[in-house]
Amino acid sequence: MPVIEVMSETLASQVAAGEVIERPASVIKELIENSVDAGARKIEVEIQRGGIALMRVRDDGCGMSPGDAARSLQRHATSKLRSSDDLNGILTLGFRGEALPSIASVSRFTMLSREAETVEGTEVRVDGGTVHDPKAVGCPVGTSIEVRDLFFNVPARKKFLKAETTEAAHVDHQVRLHALSTPEIGWVLRKDGRVVLDLPATHDRRVRIEAVAGAESGRDLIEIPRWEHRGIKVEGALLPASYARRGRKQQYVFLNGRPVEDSVISRALREAFKGALPEGFQPAAWLWLSMDPSLVDVNVHPAKKEVRFRDGAQIRIAIMDAVEQAMKPKEPEYSPEMIPTHSPSVGEKGDPASATISPELQESNENAPHQNPASTVIKSPPRWRAETQETLPVTEKSIAPAPQFRVIGALSHRYVLLEGEEGLVLLEPSSAHERIIYEKLLLKEEDLEAQGLLVPVLLELDARDVDLLMRHQKHFEDAGFTLESFGGQTVQVGGIPSFLEVKETRAFLVELVDGIIEREGVGRVQRLAYEGFAAKVACAGSRQIQWNIGEIEPLLGRLFACDLPYCDPAGRPVLVQISFQELERKFGRS
Ligand code: ADP
Ligand code: MG
Repeated sequence: MPVIEVMSETLASQVAAGEVIERPASVIKELIENSVDAGARKIEVEIQRGGIALMRVRDDGCGMSPGDAARSLQRHATSKLRSSDDLNGILTLGFRGEALPSIASVSRFTMLSREAETVEGTEVRVDGGTVHDPKAVGCPVGTSIEVRDLFFNVPARKKFLKAETTEAAHVDHQVRLHALSTPEIGWVLRKDGRVVLDLPATHDRRVRIEAVAGAESGRDLIEIPRWEHRGIKVEGALLPASYARRGRKQQYVFLNGRPVEDSVISRALREAFKGALPEGFQPAAWLWLSMDPSLVDVNVHPAKKEVRFRDGAQIRIAIMDAVEQAMKPKEPEYSPEMIPTHSPSVGEKGDPASATISPELQESNENAPHQNPASTVIKSPPRWRAETQETLPVTEKSIAPAPQFRVIGALSHRYVLLEGEEGLVLLEPSSAHERIIYEKLLLKEEDLEAQGLLVPVLLELDARDVDLLMRHQKHFEDAGFTLESFGGQTVQVGGIPSFLEVKETRAFLVELVDGIIEREGVGRVQRLAYEGFAAKVACAGSRQIQWNIGEIEPLLGRLFACDLPYCDPAGRPVLVQISFQELERKFGRS
């Protein structure tokens, strides 16, 4: 028979810590939320070795009495919630009363706290959940909490921590996130003794956004003036469509002061751009929403990251209207060359149909797309997959010797016509280039051609992106990038692949970073991430290449030296064949 026992307080806290305390950044989040709730005007955060060795958060908030300081370390001890009714009106960041005991159960924890009206403060030490008797000590007004040796007593969790630089980047993100949410608080972040963020208090949100996001984007900020719809207040700022990125990483949304992520909000932001964004891209935006707290449930996620709206439709309307108002005077422009997409669309490369086919013919195609044989040609996307053409099979170079082709000419400067042994063959030169660049990168035999920049470009990026760039620095070097960390969020780019324009550097780098992030979680991490990276570089690289008919023969030579010459890295055909047999059938001769 199983024997049921009630868990000890320490064990219960460690279990609870599993939900909220995942890594140093989650400790920092809980501690700074407490400082904000305590009414601090200034919050100083310090970490050593990614926070794993030490984290310290100091505030000048209301502090705690000796009794409260001791009680704050008991589970479910909170000054912020008294009855279940209070759950309907939460305006503080914390309310679960779980953070401090959870943190103290998995670290060596010291708290110093003093209220303004007292001369002495209190020190409470906890070692892996064992609480020592509080002591009276001298200390400044406010609270300072020190967390050392995170997870020293739960090795299973410690194993999951990432490299110190990665953990530090997550801490950095948390601090910036909360600093954005509270411009009226001054923030300092120190990493291993060095000040990496020093944000004086301000009443102007724009000043704070600029300080956190970087002056580069600050210049282009579009303000969202205060807008109200059915009691939902929206204000903030956004960046033009050219800054858009995959995923919500550049969206900072604060609901009643709490950073939140929500798909209703990001969808509304995207919709407000009215199709100016490429598929899957999200605008950069900073939004402060405020509404009656009873209209939103914040108690749906242990780390309080997600919320549930009573009426999502109204939120959507409020945000869309606010953004549309903000963009009215000056519509943002989307220039396709600013954001490389996975694969160029028909329109990007110039639709051959619109250039060469008369409107009448186009019309008749629409009416009878399958009866008119021309329609399959005109209406299909640039890489034909119509039934009348067969795609050459994907075969390994070792099995199939390079076929012999005679170059006949070019078709609308998009395809090359070749005569092959079995009939007419069409070559898509940019797909061929893609394949060649891709395999060159995978083989890593030679680096891609690079251009040194006379004046290096300094890019200010999200700290997590910088971390990722630096971790994959070698890949970027192979692709022709010379990157150097310039401290904090700045990366110095000294060289770029020769196919890239200087002004595209930022957009291209972040696109690559996003690609790596997308694939990092998939397993076989390194290989997959690198393949995805190489495919993106190849795709962007091939788009820049202007070909002329005289270069086709050497191109074919390089193509057939590849392992898989018949398809590009995305699996699209490089060559399409129309056999003599097929032609004979069409001409009624077979
Ligand atoms: P919660 O924030 O959910 O109430 P915590 O475990 O984070 O739970 O904190 C417990 C209590 O300790 C808080 O309700 C608050 O009264 C007190 N407290 C924690 N940190 C601070 C701080 N920095 N300044 C003042 N009081 C604090
Ligand atoms: Mg708290």
